[in-house]
Amino acid sequence: MNDDILNAIETKLGVSRRSFLQLCTAMAATMGLPKGAEAAIAQAIASPRRPPVIWLHFQECTGCTETLLRAEHPTLERLILDIISLDYHETLFAAAGHQIEAARKASMAANKGKYLLVVEGATPMKDGGIYCKIAGQTAHDMLMECAADAAAIVAIGSCASWGGMPSTSPNPTGSTGVPVLIKDKPVVSIPGCPPNPYNFLSTVVHFLTFNKLPDLDAKGRPKFAYGRLIHENCERRAHFDAGRFAQEFGDEGHRKGYCLYKLGCKGPETHANCPAILFGDVGSGSWPVGTGHPCIGCTEQGIGFQKPIYALAEPEYIVPPASYPHVVEQQGEGVTFGSAAGLAVIAGLAAGAGAAIARNLGKGDRDDHSAGKE
Ligand code: SF4
Repeated sequence: MNDDILNAIETKLGVSRRSFLQLCTAMAATMGLPKGAEAAIAQAIASPRRPPVIWLHFQECTGCTETLLRAEHPTLERLILDIISLDYHETLFAAAGHQIEAARKASMAANKGKYLLVVEGATPMKDGGIYCKIAGQTAHDMLMECAADAAAIVAIGSCASWGGMPSTSPNPTGSTGVPVLIKDKPVVSIPGCPPNPYNFLSTVVHFLTFNKLPDLDAKGRPKFAYGRLIHENCERRAHFDAGRFAQEFGDEGHRKGYCLYKLGCKGPETHANCPAILFGDVGSGSWPVGTGHPCIGCTEQGIGFQKPIYALAEPEYIVPPASYPHVVEQQGEGVTFGSAAGLAVIAGLAAGAGAAIARNLGKGDRDDHSAGKE
């Protein structure tokens, strides 16, 4: 990549060229792409081509948008907003009413078959869909209208993926997710409550770079993000294997960081990369299990918002031991990494290293500059 492009990137994104190339390498690693993909990603981000995006809000709390835009993430927010052309977003647009609806229709007409449709929130289907209307249209009608000429559709968050919280029994508004309603277009689901912003960014960058969506699992989720169980990469997994569990909130085991399985953790039956890429910019442990709360399985249809927190998870691969081995905790060393669980944690951290680098981009820039290394 030549200097002119890298100079333009520095100006456009406000990050150093080194950090930019680190980001591209990191995203390629996070998505499990082969060597050389980072160059293609860099070219795609540097390109002035910005895919138009229509972003719909239905039954939701706007948490998915908030997680993308929180103040601690200026680099990520900038990247997302600079690599896409956000042509319609009810929360972020200054315009309202007829003006914003006209902007949506104009963008769709000008970009037939080329725009990315992002849907946040569930779609209510009961009673003709009257429980969510925007600009006089039901959510379902607006979804169908926007999906008709979309190149691809991203269902962001658990609500858009399968109904999420609004569809919790008895589901009074008949809420459901985009994949149930759209069958003739590619739909990628990025569930989570909220979803991790790096998974969204990586999916968009993949689309931008290769003009197609990343490989998906049977539930329409990107394999790079949802290919592994949380339980495989959890920092408490060694405690699980050693039979050391918190029995109730606040007890000695809980305070010592033992496994949360008996408190209802759904990590053994939930697929996501949360323990590898974490949330926020506050360093290690910044995910629910890291802060002492059991995973509620928000990325897994049928588990999140459906299975009660007191119900034990059914481990996908192994059953917890009926009797527990005696474990001697060594002062200052904690649990040994000699178990398969430890290896799983290491593998998971390697897979998540890309996002970790990306997460620290802004911080890295500041550090580099202050150290006079740039
Ligand atoms: Fe971690 Fe939950 Fe698995 Fe325990 S049960 S190791 S807390 S994911």
